[in-house]
Amino acid sequence: MCGIVGYAGNNQAAPILLDGLAKLEYRGYDSAGVCVHNENGLNAVKAKGRLTVLSDRIDGGNALQGMVGIGHTRWATHGAPSDVNSHPHLSWTGKIAVVHNGIIENEAKLRQKMLRKGATFCSETDTEVVANMVGYYYEKLGNFVDAVRETVLRLEGSFALGIMCVDVPGKVIAVKKDSPLIFGFGKGENFVASDVPAILKYTQTVAYLEDGDMAIFDSDSVTFMDASGEIVEKKQEKITW
Ligand code: GLU
Repeated sequence: MCGIVGYAGNNQAAPILLDGLAKLEYRGYDSAGVCVHNENGLNAVKAKGRLTVLSDRIDGGNALQGMVGIGHTRWATHGAPSDVNSHPHLSWTGKIAVVHNGIIENEAKLRQKMLRKGATFCSETDTEVVANMVGYYYEKLGNFVDAVRETVLRLEGSFALGIMCVDVPGKVIAVKKDSPLIFGFGKGENFVASDVPAILKYTQTVAYLEDGDMAIFDSDSVTFMDASGEIVEKKQEKITW
């Protein structure tokens, strides 16, 4: 267990991501990190230990300006808890940032494949393999959504993923299989999270993603796709608690 939060909107992302991650602390974790996209590109800050360590490092989020971002609390499965192994992970191309909950069971095979393609790795995590695969397919196909789809098709195991691309400002892609993920509909802002408490302060309207579902969103819109790549409508549910 552990947590993911994603945000795209008209407010500063980092404080919202930290707040959401704090609401997911009950799920357990050993390290945390956020990545915010702004005019300087993808800015990732991560830290082993409690969320307060991360929060202090970015002045409660104020030191990281930008209105779209992804955040993560990690429960290490591949590689010890450390700053380097903490998420978000960037592709070796520097263009893709990924947070991940779950376990990629075929990561060893995929890592070898990516090494043969020229990718480099700086962590021991299965997640960096995902970042490098999206990075690789993005270079090959030139399309962020297609790159995520091509990657996800090759993953075995469990995942809830939050992904950003440096060339697609304002946009977050979230996709899941066997790890929980919900989408939160806001006004001029949208959210994704592992569980409702992370976003309940901001919206009470959610959609529960099913296995294979992908949410491609920015501050004003969301497109949902199912596992076959078909665009689908998701039922909006009101949280009444
Ligand atoms: N397997 C990934 C890692 O070890 C993600 C663990 C998690 O769910 O936080 O970094």
